[in-house]
Amino acid sequence: MENCIFCKIIAGEIPSAKVYEDGEIVIFKDIEPIAKVHLLCVPKEHFAYLSELDGAREALLGRTLKKIADLAPALGLEDGYRLVVNQGDNAGQTVRHLHIHILGGQPLGWQ
Ligand code: 5GP
Ligand code: ZN
Repeated sequence: MENCIFCKIIAGEIPSAKVYEDGEIVIFKDIEPIAKVHLLCVPKEHFAYLSELDGAREALLGRTLKKIADLAPALGLEDGYRLVVNQGDNAGQTVRHLHIHILGGQPLGWQ
């Protein structure tokens, strides 16, 4: 997808601090972290919204959540973590390529 910053990161055209990659997802450090650990888990396939899920993407998302759980201890998230998926303007979604924020490494507040 042209002009998608996460597609460019996935393609290696923009550098990122990757902590995990396989055939279908990549996990890298958020450039403006809001917690001690702030990672972005991004499917390699470009789509923007959960409303675009189909059968294959639903299965991908399930595998992705399991992968995050499996990787959590190695990512410094052994004491717990929070997943955030911003969708649309009211949520402040700035990158229109589906991504899961992974937050942790410290106690997280709630608002
Ligand atoms: P959103 O607001 O769309 O849910 O989250 C987008 C996230 O992507 C933000 O937390 C922002 O800091 C991060 N981000 C935007 N551009 C880049 C970039 O070029 N590299 C990295 N690593 N993160 C980025
Ligand atoms: Zn993209």
